[in-house]
Amino acid sequence: MSARFHRRVSILGATGSIGRSTARVIEELRVSGEAEIEIEALTAGRDVAGIAELARTLKPRFVAFSDETKLGEARAALAGAGVLVGAGAAALQEAAQRDADWVMSAIVGAAAIRPTLAAIERGATVALANKESLVCAGQIMKAAAARAGARLLPVDSEHNGAFQVLGDGRGVERITLTGSGGPFRGWTPQAMAAATPEQARRHPNFSMGAKISVDSATLMNKGLELIEASCLFDLGPDRLDLVIHPQQAVHALVSYCDGSMLAHLGPTDMRVAIVHALAWPDRAPLAVKRLDLTDLGQLTFEMPDRERFPALDLARRAMVAGGAAPTMLNAANEIAVAAFLERRIGFLDIASIVEAVLNRFEAGSRSANSPSSLDEVLATDALGRLWAGQETQRRQAA
Ligand code: NAD
Ligand code: MG
Repeated sequence: MSARFHRRVSILGATGSIGRSTARVIEELRVSGEAEIEIEALTAGRDVAGIAELARTLKPRFVAFSDETKLGEARAALAGAGVLVGAGAAALQEAAQRDADWVMSAIVGAAAIRPTLAAIERGATVALANKESLVCAGQIMKAAAARAGARLLPVDSEHNGAFQVLGDGRGVERITLTGSGGPFRGWTPQAMAAATPEQARRHPNFSMGAKISVDSATLMNKGLELIEASCLFDLGPDRLDLVIHPQQAVHALVSYCDGSMLAHLGPTDMRVAIVHALAWPDRAPLAVKRLDLTDLGQLTFEMPDRERFPALDLARRAMVAGGAAPTMLNAANEIAVAAFLERRIGFLDIASIVEAVLNRFEAGSRSANSPSSLDEVLATDALGRLWAGQETQRRQAA
């Protein structure tokens, strides 16, 4: 069978949950002959063994580790594989700049901003799993995409679902994202106060990286996703909703001005969104378990509990404030989640640290303008991290 489409792909964050799912999709399309896919570059933070294993099947031309101390170990592990190896921030940028026409942005956190922007500035099609880069630098990324003729394709499942049913965008009234409610949906505040990282990481429907799993437990993930949606779909905060839908069969709903509502449904498997972005504007067959509605029996929807999950209102506050506020929110959250995963603070401290940082930011002389340069975004990110670090220490000492 002749290949239906050809892609030259780079995967930023290849060893993570999304990165590995992307690798599985590519393998399947290669084996089935649906696509001819070359791999230009793979990146990881510090997982040398993970990259070495992926390199055996994917055969990339270049691999990069953000941790520069990994260079020697990586060169040894990949010796004879015919792969160029780099490490450090410049190598990560090089990976993004190399000549791939399709780039998966799947590094976790604001660390993805620079490499993702580098791929956009080259005019590549960029599949956006990483949401923090859009939350912090969405306007900059969209402007860069318009200048370079790059295409941004949402991979976050709700946004990918909304994108699939959006059509030409005419007459859209509002977009509703769904969320499972996370592992603590029915928990009391007392139980949540004592929650461990292991409990927070036990997502009901998805197996994901540590940071997004904790964000799913606080519902900050949904807060970040609302900001992500407002950027991707150019909708104000009053036109974006969230409903809790524990079965997660419906990923997003688009409401139109004539009363119609279109829903995207699918299995809870990120490969569905990944293959959609990879084959777009075409579609490619994928052997994932199909959604069986009679097996599910019922689909339920409820309002999120804003009191038990204060991260939601914090994210909304940052979205409404705009400017640098979402970057502050995200930076504080990244620091707080890392501290929680290291057992330095409790689960409820995460939202309280984010709130303290937002309060401090709003009390200071802040600009409501959107950050106009990458340097501005990175300076806000650094300040948010500094303040969140101070808040974390205060809570550890208490
Ligand atoms: P993960 O933790 O499993 O993987 C993260 C990847 O980034 C790894 O390859 C890691 O080596 C690399 N990395 C970590 N820190 C880095 C740094 N400082 N510099 C460079 N590389 C670094 O994360 P994930 O669950 O795959 O999520 C990746 C992104 O996709 C996140 O932004 C997340 O919000 C988003 N996302 C994930 C899912 C999911 O199902 N996992 C769903 C929707 C969106
Ligand atoms: Mg999502």
